[in-house]
Amino acid sequence: MKIETLAVHAGHTIDPATGAVSSPIHLSTTFERDAEGTYSRGFMYTRNNNPNREALEQGVSALEGGAAAAAFASGTGGSMSIFQVLAPGDHVIAHVDAYYGTSRLLREIFRRWGLDISFVDMSDLRAVENALRSKTKLAWMETPSNPLLKIVDLAAVARLVHAAGVICVCDNTWAPILQRPFDLGADLILHSTTKYFGGHCDVLGGIVVSKTADDLFQRIRSTQYEGGAVPSPFDCWLILRGMRTLPWRMRAHSENAMRVADFLARHPKVTHAHYPGLPSHPGHDIATKQMSMFGGMLSFEVNGGREAAMSAAAKTKIFTRATSLGGVESLIEHRASIEGAGTTSPEGLLRLSIGLENAEDLIEDLDQALG
Ligand code: PLP
Repeated sequence: MKIETLAVHAGHTIDPATGAVSSPIHLSTTFERDAEGTYSRGFMYTRNNNPNREALEQGVSALEGGAAAAAFASGTGGSMSIFQVLAPGDHVIAHVDAYYGTSRLLREIFRRWGLDISFVDMSDLRAVENALRSKTKLAWMETPSNPLLKIVDLAAVARLVHAAGVICVCDNTWAPILQRPFDLGADLILHSTTKYFGGHCDVLGGIVVSKTADDLFQRIRSTQYEGGAVPSPFDCWLILRGMRTLPWRMRAHSENAMRVADFLARHPKVTHAHYPGLPSHPGHDIATKQMSMFGGMLSFEVNGGREAAMSAAAKTKIFTRATSLGGVESLIEHRASIEGAGTTSPEGLLRLSIGLENAEDLIEDLDQALG
């Protein structure tokens, strides 16, 4: 099946009890045991498993070409479960421009847990190679990165770290459908399904997809139900519903973002436009090789630092000033002030999540806001 067909059908079945085409939401926390003491229908207690969660896991796993998946109450819950399979003393290499919350999780929680962490610019292969140690167990890639849209060569990093026996994870939140990390060598994929999978800024979720149903995945699965950071049945239902339109939405987000990036790259008040679809972007060639389109996220920098950036964001009429991404509505965000102390985001940078409005309206709005 092609990806659009998979997105519509994976994880969906006609309800055998009623014939309902849209699956029912199973709110029951507990399930009946057979007279002889077994659970022949496969469900016992909702923290362990639930029909809506199972459908979501099967759907996303099929879409990514994986063997198994574990859904969580947030993307961060999914990231936690991956780091929790490691032991004190293990070494992790993480992309320096990874999502701020992921680096904070590593710095503030997993350093205390005893993980040794190196933040490395993974767009530089030599830096990745130099960071490898005998105790390196896991490499965390994220591409395009947040908020500078740096591109990591997934296949090259996977080859390099696999040669050292290191688990290779790709946070694919920003480019579902558009890039296929398992084909490029990743062992695990993380999605914050809060973003493009949900697609409407109304549900929080995360999922870890594994290329093989191996021991590593079993440890993530056990963290899921022993740890208990599981999504509600309704949240699973919403995310699986969002997945049905994901390929078409990603196409439209990407087309709109390309047009907005072209406009910004030529605007006299913009000093840098960061979008991998622009031929001037340092990661453009690798992005062209590993992505089918360039996604709906971009950022740009204006002269005049924080004040100028905040003033432009204050003037937008269609873009909403809000964090997060992946919804149908366009968002604008001053990243440095959201990230707070320790941010590495430039003060004059604004991040855009390009929605599904008409690109001409978005360009007009930015044009008037930039003055
Ligand atoms: N990964 C990326 C790339 C993100 O952008 C985010 C959230 O913005 C996360 C992970 C964390 O997801 P959540 O907010 O669902 O915990």
